[in-house]
Amino acid sequence: MKLRSIPVLLACVQMLLAACSRGPESGENPGVEASGGTAPKVTVVDDAAMADEASGQNWLAFGRTYSEQRFSPLDQVDDGNVSKLGVDWYVDYPNDRGLVSTPLVVDGVLYFIGSMNRVRALDATTGELLWEFDPDVVENTGNDLRAGWEHNRGIGIWKDTVYVATWDGRLIAVDRATGKRVWSVHTFDPELPLYITGAPKIFKGKVLIGNGGTENGPTRGYVTAYDAETGALSWRFYIVPGDPALGFESDAMRMAAKTWTGEWWKYGGGGNAWHGFTYDAELDQLYIGTGNGAPWNQKIRSPGGGDNLFLCSIVALDPDTGEYLWHYQTTPGETWDFNSNMDIVLADLEIGGQTVKALMHAPKNGFFYVIDRETGKLISAEPFAEVNWATHVDLETGRPVETPDARYPDGSVRLTPTPAGAHSWNAMSYNPMTGLAYIPVIHASVVYDDRGVDKSSWQSALFEGDTTGVGWSWSYEEGPGSGSLQARDPVTNKTVWEVPLVGIGNPGTMTTAGNLVFQGRVTGDFVAYDATTGEELWKYPLGLGISAPPVTYTVDGKQYIALLVGWGSGAAALGGKPSVANGWAYGLQTRRLVAFSLDGKHVLPPQPAPAPARPVPIPQFEVRQDLAEQGWGEYAGRCMACHGFDAVSPGMAPDLRASAVLGSAEAFADVVRGGSREQNGMPAYRHLTDEQLLKIRHYVRREAERVLQDAGGQ
Ligand code: CA
Repeated sequence: MKLRSIPVLLACVQMLLAACSRGPESGENPGVEASGGTAPKVTVVDDAAMADEASGQNWLAFGRTYSEQRFSPLDQVDDGNVSKLGVDWYVDYPNDRGLVSTPLVVDGVLYFIGSMNRVRALDATTGELLWEFDPDVVENTGNDLRAGWEHNRGIGIWKDTVYVATWDGRLIAVDRATGKRVWSVHTFDPELPLYITGAPKIFKGKVLIGNGGTENGPTRGYVTAYDAETGALSWRFYIVPGDPALGFESDAMRMAAKTWTGEWWKYGGGGNAWHGFTYDAELDQLYIGTGNGAPWNQKIRSPGGGDNLFLCSIVALDPDTGEYLWHYQTTPGETWDFNSNMDIVLADLEIGGQTVKALMHAPKNGFFYVIDRETGKLISAEPFAEVNWATHVDLETGRPVETPDARYPDGSVRLTPTPAGAHSWNAMSYNPMTGLAYIPVIHASVVYDDRGVDKSSWQSALFEGDTTGVGWSWSYEEGPGSGSLQARDPVTNKTVWEVPLVGIGNPGTMTTAGNLVFQGRVTGDFVAYDATTGEELWKYPLGLGISAPPVTYTVDGKQYIALLVGWGSGAAALGGKPSVANGWAYGLQTRRLVAFSLDGKHVLPPQPAPAPARPVPIPQFEVRQDLAEQGWGEYAGRCMACHGFDAVSPGMAPDLRASAVLGSAEAFADVVRGGSREQNGMPAYRHLTDEQLLKIRHYVRREAERVLQDAGGQ
């Protein structure tokens, strides 16, 4: 059946609202007759619809519903027939790069955000483009296009509007029928060292958004709620206290300030909320997962110690006013980038003979937390990965018990987990039928080292240079990092099954009533597992590393499973050798959106085989070691975040050792200083001198020559 056009669908929505036959609080409305035949059901995307766990037709919000479980009650595809899944339709996006987002689906229309924050609406049965909205990110950025994060993890929908938050800090409302801008507000001054990569959170007619930026300069985190209809600012909650001399915005900030020492406000303090927001419709509470400190190194940020509230916490807020309700801090006085920005999943759990309204949270620090969300009280916390910064979490105090060397008192220590986290933003899911949470886990260790950092005079750089106050690098002493898919029982807080995976950065999971768990892999396979046992039931090679989580929906009674295929984000940038080994060289493989069904018969065009970028010889370029040595510092503070450690790119940006542009001072300056590739996400570093550019070129060529000489000597 051909899809009815969106304008007709929305006309139906408007008719319903005008007639108020069931009121805006109702979720799915009965089918409406429109001219030309039987209309599909029209969904009003509101609180009732987003709280409705029972309907599997749509995927209305980032975590599907308000619970953020990423559980679908659909069971047409199940553990008995999943082996028959095939490609129903696909669309190629040759001009996109990292695709990491969760698509949303409403009444047969699929919406998703791609590179440079472009939003597309597609027919969810064919992939046919209905509209595209380009927020013109480069044209709207301030003087500095932020390095690294031109991708975005998702959008929001409320009634007849799509909400997109942009890299440069705007929150934009877009008409769901036409893709035209309705309103746009700046959520921060574009000159500030902030950016947005997260999905707006919609609840009760409000749109909530935070930002990232603790690694871009001195930042003070906050979240803001706007009126969904008008864009008017409703409330703002600051996550860390500002300068006491200027007065505190709230009692919560007054309380938080008592946990800081020194002159933290000069460094911003951090805490930026860039990802985990959950609205609890049952208790009418909002939960914010908060970020790490700015700078990371607490010896600089808060030299007398202290918990530094509300860094690395779950903070519960009143959704109508933004007022503080309670908090639980996972990593007091953090000094490792162990933020708590990860997803916050709600479920009723039977614990000790009682039904507990619980929330689950697996932050970077490696502990899996189960918390009573009525009170904020910790129920259990157990390591879900290797942890050596703390021995355990004391259930009486709710605090981690740190190991003696964890805070690098002697300047250097090897720790696990890492700044990439034992779990990052890649979504976990929870299946109420199996009672298991499915977590993409990262296993790795790094060396933290603040020797050589002058902690008394340290100042944060803006956009480039040292913003962390402590160096870190991947530790290969115990082999390269790896991953796993872990099924965890939150009642016992123990692992039930676990599948080892190659590489770090394996993407988010989805689970269904068909006793299935779906997950892509960094190796390019899309896999379905038996949700109860972890047995692999189906695998489909997609020929490019997967960084996005799948979604599922129905149209005309047929179940689809859709997934963006587009290697990107942190693992594609700073993943180090384990990510380089995947072989997803920048620009080599085509980015796609692929939808599967039980009667899918399409054959995807083949992708080029994985092939890590190879350094090219530039015979006329003679490396000068002194320039190369100085060039390392210039490279590390600017280029490394996208182009990789040791100038080896894991795929998010070009491998500079393989670029002939390095052979020409003019061509290099055109890109790096002139901004000729800003539309590809490459910032312009307009103030760099010829000498700095020269040093960077010599550093990169030295790294290229090393590989070329090794190859020649064999
Ligand atoms: Ca961070």
